Amino acid sequence: MSDPEVGVVVAGAGIAGLAAALQLQLAGEEVIVVDASDRPGGVMRTDHVSGYVIERGPNMTQVKAPMLDFLCSLGAEKSLLAARPASRLRSIYDAGQLRPVPTSPLALLRTPLLSVGGKLRLLAEPFVRRAKAGDESVAEFIGRRLGKQVVEGLVGPFLTGVYAGDERELGAEAVFPSLVEMERKCGSIACGMFARLFRSWRRRGLRGSYSAVEGLGPFARALAERLVEPVALENRVIGVKRDGDGWLVRTSGPAGKRRVRAMRVVLAVPADQAAKILRGVSSGLANELAAIEYAPIVGLSLGVDPGAVREKIEGFGFLVPRRAEIKLLGCLYMSQLFPLRAPAGRELLQCLAGGARWPEAVDLPDDEIVTQVCADLDRILGLREEPRILAVTRWRQAIPQPRRDHVARIARIRERLLEFPGIALAGSYLGGIGVSDSLESGLLAARDVATRSE
Ligand SMILES: Cc1cc2nc3c(=O)[nH]c(=O)nc-3n(C[C@H](O)[C@H](O)[C@H](O)COP(=O)(O)OP(=O)(O)OC[C@H]3O[C@@H](n4cnc5c(N)ncnc54)[C@H](O)[C@@H]3O)c2cc1C
Repeated sequence: MSDPEVGVVVAGAGIAGLAAALQLQLAGEEVIVVDASDRPGGVMRTDHVSGYVIERGPNMTQVKAPMLDFLCSLGAEKSLLAARPASRLRSIYDAGQLRPVPTSPLALLRTPLLSVGGKLRLLAEPFVRRAKAGDESVAEFIGRRLGKQVVEGLVGPFLTGVYAGDERELGAEAVFPSLVEMERKCGSIACGMFARLFRSWRRRGLRGSYSAVEGLGPFARALAERLVEPVALENRVIGVKRDGDGWLVRTSGPAGKRRVRAMRVVLAVPADQAAKILRGVSSGLANELAAIEYAPIVGLSLGVDPGAVREKIEGFGFLVPRRAEIKLLGCLYMSQLFPLRAPAGRELLQCLAGGARWPEAVDLPDDEIVTQVCADLDRILGLREEPRILAVTRWRQAIPQPRRDHVARIARIRERLLEFPGIALAGSYLGGIGVSDSLESGLLAARDVATRSE
């Protein structure tokens, strides 16, 4: 019996795979999505625990222009829920206190997060000589342009929150491409920012942070339900092989091993999985993909009585710089950000641990993680009673860590992919690491397989 045939197989039903599949479906393609897990959405997972709505993976998303356009094309933008305006207040724990993150030039001049010397160094940025950011780390690039204090007091904590990473290891070109570009083109970040003021006509998407009324898990599930062919869950893609002008995709699931013939394949799976799938096609490509590292994350969802906490629970939450010598990376006040996340009179805190600062946390038993995180939280917020532990979530491979050579590596991967028409990659390791970026990578992959097979 010959293998069944389909236009496109998409491996992975995270936001990248769903976006790719829906985009291809909109273009009239016959698409099958295969996912190893028991539900669509990838790391976007929401659970209800004792009256709290907890996010296991991403807590919110930016909505950049490609994501907004895509959701509008489906009529799905109405399900977005904006974070409350009060969430603009963000804090950094420094010198034993929570201090607001400066969000205006005046606030920057007043912030105690930088000394007078640190502020003068920052103001000198336009006069710093241009250099080649090339393979600099974020700490080297920002330190060179804006000073060491900006690295330690502001940029470091920000990267802890976004990448769970270490600014001394993350590559400047991958993490801050627009700042590197500003230096390259205009000579300084200040001049680049000024020039940007005159390009405000560019479409930018929505301002602020977003979730969905029911959380991001149901949001992803609703997208999956728009697929004509339901996602084949609990099925893992284990390999692909060239077959004439198409590809034979091998899968493994409860019904055993199967093969399907596809003209095009989108691999919207983490880099190590893409490496395994492509090993038989190109070991060079597989080696490049396998070399991309991820940071582990442990999420701790806690319910608290705000009356039993010394600090006021208001705003976005806080981040902890490395110099504070605290294991906790940060904490989001989820019930302040979005309505109906906690029962009346309670607050939902989402703590972030692990990352480059405490990578071994992911292998520790729950009680050890809880003890450490609660001790850190007590030091920062002052807990007068034990918080209610709602969930401990481990992600062994949570966030890609773009190193100094990341941009060059991705360029090499793209170059090698040209040898294999009909195969495209999507996921958060290719460009930005947020939900919106990953979604965009799926849209680009859909366009890629469509144009490369024309
Ligand atoms: C704990 C955590 C917190 C985060 N917080 C935020 C945040 O607040 N804001 C933000 O913007 N971003 C955040 N991110 C990042 C964001 O969630 C991701 O960038 C994005 O969701 C990744 O989507 P994806 O589709 O690329 O990958 P994934 O969501 O990882 O999906 C990949 C899918 O591939 C499937 N798969 C794997 N191997 C195979 C295989 N061999 N065959 C078939 N299927 C396979 C998996 O089951 C999975 O469903 C966070 C990530 C984590 C882990």
